Amino acid sequence: MATFSSSFLSLHPPSLHQQTTYYAQKSLKPKYLTIVSSTVSDIRKEEIVIVGAGIAGLSTAVSLHRLGVRSLVLEQAESLRTGGTSLTLFKNGWKVLDAMGVGDQLRSQYLEIQGYDGYKNRKWKRAALIQLQRRRSKSTKCVFGNSQEVRAVERRTLLETLAKQLPLDSISFSSKLANIEKQQDGQTLLELVDGTRISSKVVIGCDGIRSPVAKWMGFPEPNYVGYCAFRGLGDYPDGQPYESRVNYVYGRGIRAGYVPVSPTKVYWFVCFNSPTPGPKITDPSVLKKLTKELIKKWPSELQNIIDATPDDTIIRTPLVDRWLWPGLSPPVSSGGAVLVGDAWHPMTPNLGQGACCALEDAVVLVQKLVPALEAGPTFVEDALRSYQKERWQRIFPMTVRANVVGAILQLENPVVCAIRDNVLVPKLVRLGPMLEHTNFECEPLLRTRV
Ligand SMILES: Cc1cc2nc3c(=O)[nH]c(=O)nc-3n(C[C@H](O)[C@H](O)[C@H](O)COP(=O)(O)OP(=O)(O)OC[C@H]3O[C@@H](n4cnc5c(N)ncnc54)[C@H](O)[C@@H]3O)c2cc1C
Repeated sequence: MATFSSSFLSLHPPSLHQQTTYYAQKSLKPKYLTIVSSTVSDIRKEEIVIVGAGIAGLSTAVSLHRLGVRSLVLEQAESLRTGGTSLTLFKNGWKVLDAMGVGDQLRSQYLEIQGYDGYKNRKWKRAALIQLQRRRSKSTKCVFGNSQEVRAVERRTLLETLAKQLPLDSISFSSKLANIEKQQDGQTLLELVDGTRISSKVVIGCDGIRSPVAKWMGFPEPNYVGYCAFRGLGDYPDGQPYESRVNYVYGRGIRAGYVPVSPTKVYWFVCFNSPTPGPKITDPSVLKKLTKELIKKWPSELQNIIDATPDDTIIRTPLVDRWLWPGLSPPVSSGGAVLVGDAWHPMTPNLGQGACCALEDAVVLVQKLVPALEAGPTFVEDALRSYQKERWQRIFPMTVRANVVGAILQLENPVVCAIRDNVLVPKLVRLGPMLEHTNFECEPLLRTRV
């Protein structure tokens, strides 16, 4: 007999609704499924529900679990996101992963980035390409320094590693949140598209940039910032040939780069100005063609890496952010609901900090929430307010800074670009403070009750 435990991380694990129906049809008593105790029309009771099994949701669930607190993660998709590319994690992200006890597992699979090569591509012609390649030996270099740790990790592996830390019944796939409302008893009622209803004391919205939980709390849609990104992950089964450095090409209204991720994978991106987000394109052959067209006069290395990219890792994303203006933006928590990661603070990827900040949020929230849950409801509200205060001070400036950096990097004016490429970028790259936003301290999450 197949049990749900064997399909926990498989392609089509069961939803809460399916679990209930399955057990009802077979008259089986589930071995580990503690929450399946009632019919679909009943309201399940949960202490903590997390909406979304992305980086924010899973890292929040793992942090809670490390402190002995159970949560239920609802994910709309049928399984963990297995496609997609990689994320560059800086030392703040690694500190959180260490606190969660998974840092070394990931480190052993991914290369530590040793430095940075920046190139300028001023003329946009074949001649510029030759000049660009000659510049290689003289390119701007900086080693990140002993206190920094930069590695790109595959999103798929990061998600799987986090999910494996959780008990088998923690994530419910095919569980899309459809409606949310506050109840008179102070609990929050969540209704899923399949009709399942769950009442929870605390709801943690980790449901990404188009978060239904954030919308319910009064947050506006994120703003499109005027450029899009193509991304992919080149696959080299026999070993990739590149040094472990970030390679960045600055153009006019367009920039591109690549970075080796592991001995067999190389991440690449192309960011280009576009007045509108444009149509949603999912056909990988079209995505590849459009990307290569954009950079056809650029270093052939980039074209080669794009050619080595499997279809399921190539994506086009319109970039967005949302500034948390003091006094104007809604509070991050209201009546037992709170936001983590992109659901609260979508930011542009120009500092490589979206996922790092989601990880930080998770650990800060959990360290405040767990003692408050034990102390009582009024303490929970205080804990959520304290989370908002601490995190806002970090997130708001980071979002603005990422936006400004992106605006500079996407400039089109030739004179301004020349100043940027010849003066600004070399200076900034040599300055240590360029990465001071990655400073973050975090206490280990010590298992006390599990
Ligand atoms: C081009 C680009 C490059 C980036 N590079 C980096 C980088 O190098 N370093 C870095 O730190 N960050 C980077 N980021 C940012 C990073 O990808 C995000 O900050 C991070 O993925 C946010 O994680 P999240 O869990 O908050 O949201 P998501 O990853 O979006 O997860 C949200 C989850 O919620 C689920 N969900 C949504 N709605 C519902 C619903 N109604 N019911 C149930 N589930 C639902 C979704 O299916 C999804 O699984 C980059 C982003 C982009 C766009």
